Amino acid sequence: MQRDRFRACLLAGAVGDALGGAVEFLSLAAIRATYGPAGIRDYAPSIGGQITDDTQMTLYTAAALLDAADADATAFVRGDALVGRALTAAYLHWLESQGQGAHCALPQGHAADLRKVAALNAARAPGLTCLSSLAALTDLTAVYADNDRKGCGGVMRVAPIGLVAVGLPNAARSAFEWGCRSAAITHGHPTGHLASGATAAIIARLAEGHSLLAAIDTAQQLLTSHRRSDETSTALTRAVAAAARGVADAATVESLGGGWVAEETLAIAVYCALVTADLEAGVVLAANHSGDSDSTAAVAGQFLGLMKGMGAIPARWLDGLECRDLLTQKADSLWAQVADRPGLGI
Ligand SMILES: [Mg+2]
Repeated sequence: MQRDRFRACLLAGAVGDALGGAVEFLSLAAIRATYGPAGIRDYAPSIGGQITDDTQMTLYTAAALLDAADADATAFVRGDALVGRALTAAYLHWLESQGQGAHCALPQGHAADLRKVAALNAARAPGLTCLSSLAALTDLTAVYADNDRKGCGGVMRVAPIGLVAVGLPNAARSAFEWGCRSAAITHGHPTGHLASGATAAIIARLAEGHSLLAAIDTAQQLLTSHRRSDETSTALTRAVAAAARGVADAATVESLGGGWVAEETLAIAVYCALVTADLEAGVVLAANHSGDSDSTAAVAGQFLGLMKGMGAIPARWLDGLECRDLLTQKADSLWAQVADRPGLGI
């Protein structure tokens, strides 16, 4: 594994987010009527490479992990609640960036520093469950959100958790557990956090150099030990079966759902990353459907970025991407957390 793949994970995810953000609330028919029969393949001229809340919150996840590592480098692998407090604090900083005050004092650090970035203070169709559940918190000890929501607001933000787990003895399990805990801060339905754990575990396995199918197998094994994991497990099984049929089209994407809920976002991302031959085709496929285009294309981009590397991201997409330098810096900082671990250098 190289630093290049860490960068490609975050940057291709942001590219997918920006591409899909323009069509998040459009039906497939409306997308084709607006952008032509091949759908949206380049940033919408009106907004360019603007990221949305998906990339904003992914950056806050990255910042939280860096804050936690600064406080105690072993907290992540030990499952220490310090990491949970750092994640909660970071998401509360994001809440404040959206114009709502947090109901507790927030620490300085990497997450606080993101508030200085103009693009991260813009409202980009933020998820309502994320906003309402964070607004209800009165301290940093959040464990399970007091709701039954399973929107994809967890899945779309956990990639940095998978990255920072790389090289640990139980990388996929650590990523899975922290992916679940990160999402549970805002999403109380089991699928809302289990699908996020599965996403983080897949990211960790991909980042260790395993194939996507092998990474999915690992996620499935981790899911079996959790109650109420059937929705996530079934969605993954359906996505793999759909990809095995070898047809890459929007009808198959839509057969997997709209991507508004966690397990469908993961399933669409998995299908698009498995069924296409290259990163560009996979991200385009994941953006062109009637559902939550920015989240599905973001997660597909994260998977494909790890699988294909920076060289696979079209230059025309990178050139116009908002927060490109910040995403690169955060990817490098996450890489610095793992680079000295034994067993890397794959
Ligand atoms: Mg979004």
